[in-house]
Amino acid sequence: MKSKNVIITVITTLVFLSCATNPFTGKQTMALVPNSQLFPTAFQQYDQFLSENKVIKGTADAEMVKRVGQKIAVAAERWLNANGHVGYLNDYKWEYNLVDDKAVNAWCMPGGKIVVYTGILPITKGEAGLAAVLGHEVSHALANHGQQRMSASMLQQIGAVGLNVALQDNKNLGLFNQAYGIGSQVGVMLPFSRSHETEADTIGLTLMAIAGYNPEEAVELWKRMSAQGGQAPPELLSTHPSNESRIANLKALVPKAKEEARKFGVTSFKQN
Ligand SMILES: [Zn+2]
Repeated sequence: MKSKNVIITVITTLVFLSCATNPFTGKQTMALVPNSQLFPTAFQQYDQFLSENKVIKGTADAEMVKRVGQKIAVAAERWLNANGHVGYLNDYKWEYNLVDDKAVNAWCMPGGKIVVYTGILPITKGEAGLAAVLGHEVSHALANHGQQRMSASMLQQIGAVGLNVALQDNKNLGLFNQAYGIGSQVGVMLPFSRSHETEADTIGLTLMAIAGYNPEEAVELWKRMSAQGGQAPPELLSTHPSNESRIANLKALVPKAKEEARKFGVTSFKQN
């Protein structure tokens, strides 16, 4: 009984000491693994993923992924700098790769490592549609959603892993891969919570608008996405929020995203 109490105290302290502030919401969030440990692991896992998959280089689509990704990254930096978070992206090493895979998916790992699967391009259609997807994925990374998801599952398994939260531990590396959706199998990745999805939608809409893309295209993208029906991709079509509420929410946020972009001198917005 006594040792149980000690364990609970240690875990509570660990969680208390392991918080990070989300610059977009000001909320304290759980971060059991510091970015100084998370980023090198992410970079390593990203390189491994690229070496095991077919990366498309030099095509118009591959160039588009880089172009749009860069614009979203620049928009994020401008927004963070303007809102008192200078240096937030210092340890980011942005990379944007198109991978030949029919999965309708895209993701961004900690530190700005992005993968877009060719399977999503028929749905994104043009640059603005892709900007909506990348805005959303980059926002998950910026707000450390994967970190929180991984920390939560680590905490659940803390009995098994002890207090060793080092990522070198194979079990934790598995949790890392689950949390960040590496691999494209449905169900392997832990889902983001409804609030994380809504947060990523909201931040992503602002980023795409600052990058010069019409945020209304995000609404159109999700309509096309929901028309996909049962073929739910692992990240983008997680069941929460429902497509209807997501589309309604995005629609309502479009004027605010445009207004935010105008603060950065963006007055015209590219259609898809
Ligand atoms: Zn998401």
